Amino acid sequence: MKGVLILSKGIMVFVEQSQGNIRKTSLELLSQASVIAGQAGEAVTAVILGQNIENLADEAIQYGADKVIVADAPQLEKYTIGPYTRVLKSIIRQEEPQAVLLGNTATGRELAPRLAQRLGVGQASDCTGLEYAADTFLRFKRPVYAGKALVYVSSKVRPVVATIRPNTFQAVARVPQQQAVVVKYPVESEAAELSVIIREVVLAGSKRPELTEANIIIAGGRGLKGPEHFAMLGEFADTVGGAVAASRVAVDAGWVEHEYQVGQTGKTVSPTLYIACGISGAIQHLAGMGSARCVVAINNDPEANIFKIADYGIVGDVFEVVPMLTQQLRKTAYPQV
Ligand SMILES: Cc1cc2nc3c(=O)[nH]c(=O)nc-3n(C[C@H](O)[C@H](O)[C@H](O)COP(=O)(O)OP(=O)(O)OC[C@H]3O[C@@H](n4cnc5c(N)ncnc54)[C@H](O)[C@@H]3O)c2cc1C
Repeated sequence: MKGVLILSKGIMVFVEQSQGNIRKTSLELLSQASVIAGQAGEAVTAVILGQNIENLADEAIQYGADKVIVADAPQLEKYTIGPYTRVLKSIIRQEEPQAVLLGNTATGRELAPRLAQRLGVGQASDCTGLEYAADTFLRFKRPVYAGKALVYVSSKVRPVVATIRPNTFQAVARVPQQQAVVVKYPVESEAAELSVIIREVVLAGSKRPELTEANIIIAGGRGLKGPEHFAMLGEFADTVGGAVAASRVAVDAGWVEHEYQVGQTGKTVSPTLYIACGISGAIQHLAGMGSARCVVAINNDPEANIFKIADYGIVGDVFEVVPMLTQQLRKTAYPQV
């Protein structure tokens, strides 16, 4: 089996950073990897690529890394698929981990399959569970058929590459390991050769959390009746430190941009709390938010499908319920989740 690594050790986490900050999803992965590594008697290696990012190593250690490999080079300053794949692949070849974990973000979704292909190994995508298994080391859980079924995936080929949905695990800081090591990886110039040059990165103007990483999401659908009423959801979201999302109907009608769409043809989210306002709960919508820990539905139709999956249902008019909730939560100084 060409390209398959035989001697393998530990769990490697690709630590995604943006503008010099580690993304929350990578801290979640480090935390869970450290739990599993503890059960298996293995170690966690964090890999950080970028420029002037050595200072991020301490945070990676705080969240579970026993070893941090820093690949620092000007060509790695902004994420581009070619150099990132080549550098990561050679680090994996050198370290021979049992598993390589990435967040199921835009970057992780692009990088993971390419890495798996270059290494000649298998990949599990968009996993919503990850646990230690005595026989195969790791067992991944992933939803299939738009969330209608779950499959459990294991691989005996090393390393197994997997992307894990943001918010699947909690990011838990621990007492940093005194014996944790930070290693600089010498980036060879040809490995970092750029075929694409990113001239500018324009960040979305919103101060709200990124949808796929948000702990609280307030989503609106056709029941909002027009684009102007999304401001009401924005106020609600700002009161609880959440993000705003939408059903496809609201996006297709041009009420909000496609980047807000949750569902089969939109984003997959996994918040702690998802409040669906005027959304019927079509299967394609549920495909994108079915793994939310707690779902609250506000709908004036008691027969709406969303109530079948909701943890709490409010039968009522969104235009009455949402301002009332916002007002009440403002009064109680809602604690940020
Ligand atoms: C291939 C494919 C891919 C798709 N991908 C997606 C996707 O990614 N995401 C997605 O969301 N959909 C997707 N859809 C569309 C999906 O099938 C539904 O049409 C869509 O989710 C419905 O959106 P909605 O719930 O906002 O609208 P509706 O189904 O029309 O529901 C509106 C709800 O609002 C309630 N309501 C109305 N007025 C009020 C009020 N004043 N107060 C309270 N409640 C009120 C109604 O009772 C109703 O339940 C896809 C469809 C296909 C075929």
